[in-house]
Amino acid sequence: MVATTEEVLELHGRVRECTACPLHLTRIQAVPGYGPVTARVMAVGEAPGENEDREGRPFVGAAGRLLTGLLESAGLDRRDIYITNIVKCRPPRNRDPEPEEVDACSHFLDEQIELLQPDVILLLGRHALTRLLPGAGGISRLHGERVRRNDRVFVPLYHPAAALYNAGLKDTLEADMRRVRGYLADAEAARARRAGGASASELRQIAASPGGDQMDLF
Ligand code: URA
Repeated sequence: MVATTEEVLELHGRVRECTACPLHLTRIQAVPGYGPVTARVMAVGEAPGENEDREGRPFVGAAGRLLTGLLESAGLDRRDIYITNIVKCRPPRNRDPEPEEVDACSHFLDEQIELLQPDVILLLGRHALTRLLPGAGGISRLHGERVRRNDRVFVPLYHPAAALYNAGLKDTLEADMRRVRGYLADAEAARARRAGGASASELRQIAASPGGDQMDLF
């Protein structure tokens, strides 16, 4: 059962009002997440940067443009993906989030996963990997692999920002993203089997019907 738009908007509202850690003092605005409630893929980055803080949407700067291109190169459309971060407010000067900031914020991510029930969760960079797959291993070993944990499918990937000035890493990310296509097809087939034969595209049609929820969230 996909989340309702109201449920996700209510969560976004709580993120925007959150004052649980000191990052609320320096942010322009919190960046809850963006994408359709029916997204089958969720991408999780580290934290908003300057552009995201200004616009209130994740991955809208140079790393975001690279992410869009990487998704396209694998035949995936960014508009079908729900994108968010481990930490919802920009750390000053884009420093790494402190462990206490991650701890204060990450219940929002847990709720987002619980609501959207994505088939595949892309972990963009080591912060997302460490938070969602603690103890699983490092990004250099796990990138591009499918990791199943607690009935969920995770795919650790290098962070797009790391590939901005490293062509070798960009090639690796492209190859890993192509593998994501296959993982998604497998997950959709499994979902269709669980739904008693309805295909993934049929399920999407149901969700997009007038009674269903298919709305971009911001
Ligand atoms: N980097 C991230 O990890 N998240 C963003 O939203 C933008 C850049």
